[in-house]
Amino acid sequence: MEKRAELYSGKAKSVYETDDQDYLVLAFRNDTSAFDGKRIEQLERKGMVNNKFNAFIMEKLKAAGIPTHFERLLSDQECLVKRMDMMPVECVVRNIAAGSLVRRLGVTEGQELNPPTFELFLKNDALGDPMINESHVETFGWATREQLARAKELTYQVNDVLKALFDDAGLLLVDYKLEFGIFKGEVVLGDEFSPDGCRLWDKETRDKMDKDRFRQGLGGVIEAYEEVGRRLGIDFG
Ligand code: UDP
Repeated sequence: MEKRAELYSGKAKSVYETDDQDYLVLAFRNDTSAFDGKRIEQLERKGMVNNKFNAFIMEKLKAAGIPTHFERLLSDQECLVKRMDMMPVECVVRNIAAGSLVRRLGVTEGQELNPPTFELFLKNDALGDPMINESHVETFGWATREQLARAKELTYQVNDVLKALFDDAGLLLVDYKLEFGIFKGEVVLGDEFSPDGCRLWDKETRDKMDKDRFRQGLGGVIEAYEEVGRRLGIDFG
């Protein structure tokens, strides 16, 4: 497998073509952004930590029968993934109230959400990733009704697998965002799963161990990601 030209550069990852049209290289950079890209900083080790974190989680999800685009690690900061047509939609499940839910609905941070909520957001930084509903997805052709139903089902399955995984590591999976694509007609989990796109709180102290440390200027961002990884048994080298 040979890496070819850069296809796309996002806020934290770059995507390269390969000599196989069905596969892409994802390169995790040290860039860390918040507030729809309005604040960007470099955090040392972050590309490597998120790449290895994502690989670990994607392997766990695959073992649980969830189709993912992840193929294999290529280097500290790169992995090989299936090339998909991405749905421009973010699927968010929440087990505990935090973030935009608290701001939008005025509920108390930390409130348990039973059953967990499911929300959709349009991937569009210029519009501030607005919240959308299932009819918008179908009407504007971002995915078919069937594809969205499958993405929703997979998003909930991920919750069952990862809530248990993090619970065993003394962590609460507060919420998370997933993105899906279509590969050879099948809805497949894409993008990444790392502390950049989820909220993880220490079960005992409720300390934040995720990107909120960056968003809220709490410091110790990568140290927290590495601590989560250490508790899961990830080897960062
Ligand atoms: N999230 C993300 N990318 C986004 C927006 C949200 O990965 O563009 C994640 C975020 O890290 C959290 C979950 O989705 O785990 C829910 O985020 P929320 O809607 O509370 O938005 P925020 O408070 O992060 O703006």
